[in-house]
Amino acid sequence: MSSFRIIVVGGGFSGIASAIAAARAGASVTLFEKTDMLAGSGLRAGRMNFNGKLVAAEEAKALGGGDVFAALESILLHRGNIVDEFHGYVYDTSRVDGVMQKLVRETGIDLRLETRVTDVEKDGRSIRAVKLASREKVKADAFVDAPGTSGGMNICKRYGQGCMMCICYRCPAYGDRVSIATKAGAPSLDRVRPDGTPGAVGSAVLVNKTTLDKGLLARLEKEGAICIPLPKELIDYSKEKKIGGVRSRRQMEFINLVDIGSTAKCVGLGYFALDKLKSIPGFEFAQYDEPMAGGKFNKISKVDMCPRDDSLQVEGIENLFAAGEKCGPGTGIAEAIVSGVLAGNNAARVAADKKPVVLTRETVIGDYIAYTGEKMKTPGGLGGGYSFGLGEYFERMKSQGRYTTDIPAIHRRVKKLGLAGFLGSKVASSE
Ligand SMILES: Cc1cc2nc3c(=O)[nH]c(=O)nc-3n(C[C@H](O)[C@H](O)[C@H](O)COP(=O)(O)OP(=O)(O)OC[C@H]3O[C@@H](n4cnc5c(N)ncnc54)[C@H](O)[C@@H]3O)c2cc1C
Repeated sequence: MSSFRIIVVGGGFSGIASAIAAARAGASVTLFEKTDMLAGSGLRAGRMNFNGKLVAAEEAKALGGGDVFAALESILLHRGNIVDEFHGYVYDTSRVDGVMQKLVRETGIDLRLETRVTDVEKDGRSIRAVKLASREKVKADAFVDAPGTSGGMNICKRYGQGCMMCICYRCPAYGDRVSIATKAGAPSLDRVRPDGTPGAVGSAVLVNKTTLDKGLLARLEKEGAICIPLPKELIDYSKEKKIGGVRSRRQMEFINLVDIGSTAKCVGLGYFALDKLKSIPGFEFAQYDEPMAGGKFNKISKVDMCPRDDSLQVEGIENLFAAGEKCGPGTGIAEAIVSGVLAGNNAARVAADKKPVVLTRETVIGDYIAYTGEKMKTPGGLGGGYSFGLGEYFERMKSQGRYTTDIPAIHRRVKKLGLAGFLGSKVASSE
């Protein structure tokens, strides 16, 4: 049993990666997730490794933080391109909770499902304990806040059109998202839509596969992804800046339909009136799986981010690190995982009385963390999202000459920097 204890709040990909990184660093780790499943929005996500996301995933593996990426590759369902997104793969969302629970438990993490953290107990500039909905208090030496930025119901009502009944969070049954950074007094920042409304609109809508035309479904399950041009009158370019995912203008002209296992995802459609969807050949009997009111609107995300430094230490709180969507305007699975790896490793360092580390900007991950941190402080910087896969940050990666599909070259670069395995080893000997 390790002598230092870490608590991670939130069992999405960033929380899972944080918990594993802290455990690999030698800590005794408890992971709290409010629902009965792991993976959070990853339960309905699926698309990995397209464009610059491949570079981030391979860099994370080279740095010693590849466990979650490897587990997702073990449930690879399809390879296939959509508009503007190349060399990606999709993991099977119907198996992701099971695979993540197995990985977490095999790593020796104390996993507490259906356990919502509701508050913190502080001691000066540190957190001493978290308080649970059951009123139990649990102490630790350092903490990671990884609650995502979607919902709860109060946010979806205030900045959206009510609870649109999403499957990932199920707030009516499991309670609203709570951030321990916000509870501990850290500033809370929101992304802003073009009309000034806080929060971004959920980016994907999911259609029940059995309601698709049989021919379309057979093709989708064979090819993995199909791009269906939208009739001109149904194209809405304004969604590009409203939705939480980073998407291209050209993607707005298509239904980018992807088989993610449990359901069929329309990437970047945001929301789309059901009668209009039914007017498209193949969708005549379509029904939405997620959010169930996706014909009207979508969940609200990208609210309640917190300022942090480049080690992901939360501003003003010495033993708290932030990961995933919580730690900045970045969005996506690879983005959540790599921040989780650094946050978990640094939480373990601080708990073991060591200084947190910052990844050099010579790594894509270090540069991305620093860049998104700067964006949080820049006027207008919270107007958009940042992804390894598309948009402003991918363009930056390309302009720096760091985008490559040469996997051995990515590993060699990390080795040359003297960082091979750096985030995957013990930070102090356990007792
Ligand atoms: C429908 C959809 C499709 C997407 N598709 C893709 C895709 O194909 N590719 C891609 O790269 N990205 C995709 N994304 C984005 C990506 O899934 C997210 O950016 C990423 O997974 C966020 O991870 P996270 O850990 O930061 O947060 P989340 O996934 O939101 O996880 C947070 C977790 O914390 C829990 N929680 C919150 N508060 C508490 C509390 N107080 N106590 C305990 N638990 C708590 C929540 O229940 C949740 O499980 C998609 C997102 C959505 C919604």
